[in-house]
Amino acid sequence: MTTHFDFPKALLERESRQLYRRRRVLETAQGAEVVVDGHACVAFCSNDYLGLANHPQVVTAFQNTANQYGVGAGASHLISGHMSPHHALEEELADFVGTERALLFSTGYMANLGVINAVVGRGDEIFADKLNHASLLDGALLSAARLWRYPHGDMDALERLLSRPLGGRRLLCSDGVFSMDGDLAPIDVLATLAAKNKARLLIDDAHGFGVLGEQGRGSLEQLGLSQGPPLILMATLGKALGCFGAFVAAEEALIETLIQLARTYVYTTALPPAVAEAARASLRLVRQDAARREQLWVLVQRFRHGSAELGLNVTPSTTPIQPLVLGDSQRVLDASAALEQRGFFVTAIRPPTVPVGSARLRITLSAVHTPEQVDRLLEALAEVCGHG
Ligand SMILES: *Cc1c(COP(=O)(O)O)cnc(C)c1O
Repeated sequence: MTTHFDFPKALLERESRQLYRRRRVLETAQGAEVVVDGHACVAFCSNDYLGLANHPQVVTAFQNTANQYGVGAGASHLISGHMSPHHALEEELADFVGTERALLFSTGYMANLGVINAVVGRGDEIFADKLNHASLLDGALLSAARLWRYPHGDMDALERLLSRPLGGRRLLCSDGVFSMDGDLAPIDVLATLAAKNKARLLIDDAHGFGVLGEQGRGSLEQLGLSQGPPLILMATLGKALGCFGAFVAAEEALIETLIQLARTYVYTTALPPAVAEAARASLRLVRQDAARREQLWVLVQRFRHGSAELGLNVTPSTTPIQPLVLGDSQRVLDASAALEQRGFFVTAIRPPTVPVGSARLRITLSAVHTPEQVDRLLEALAEVCGHG
């Protein structure tokens, strides 16, 4: 048994298993072309799916708001940090997704912890997909509710779990788009099961919001589903919206409950108001500029056709997340390094972010990529990982 801290040894051991993580320094804004540690690369690994992180209108909104409101919010939302840009953004988000209310959180991680712990606790039950994002898992563990994890996407397994005698209030939790696989959850089945079992359903649409659906409203729009109980929607502003922060959207009473009880809402400083105003500018672009999404779908199709032609084993995903599972961590690190030599930045994703044996290149496409950049990536992938 370890009786003392030996960080150097634990770090070496981690390194020997090819699980050591190193941060790369980006010397430019997000975009198709970036400079990483001095190397010019075409980046295929950000979540800036629409290329809004460095959009001039978003940047200008940020600058103007900083001039007017300063930088820090100065306090939590309940003390004195809830400013007009936050309030306006909440109203616009609720209007956009079609719920009575929306509530801003400083990050998606905090939103998930906050909402789960405000609605369930000891004596209650949580049902979660095995591949859910870490923040949903951590929120569930923190809650002290009984946690049942079902195999990825297995609605029969979930139904069997739900058929057990009731052990308190029930919350179903799922990513809308699974962050490391890019596939969609069967939200229609989840919503039906939730309604049948008097459960609530928390959908984390971090990777669907802004991207999926004709209007960019996310996974629910894509699947033709409407908002309203049993659904609770969480989405982030740091991915397709290119900003920072997150929100929960639901009916009035649930949002008021979060304002009273969600500890990651109550006990933290509000987002900088300039971030909220930048997110409003992003949201306007999402609403007005459907061409960005169309461009993205053209590129996703191009990548999928090209990878199929080259015999690359890309997982079946219809979203901008197009993972190439290589299995072994060393193999993925080597592939990532070889891609970088060819001018492409694609981070290796390893356990515990993904299950052991499923290390992968998580390739993400953005509306700002050109078709030629996608073609060149495909050529490089064929060279680097084309054989088995
Ligand atoms: C990124 C992500 C989060 C966390 O959002 P942040 O705002 O980055 O904290 C939550 N859930 C999923 C599925 C994510 O991909």
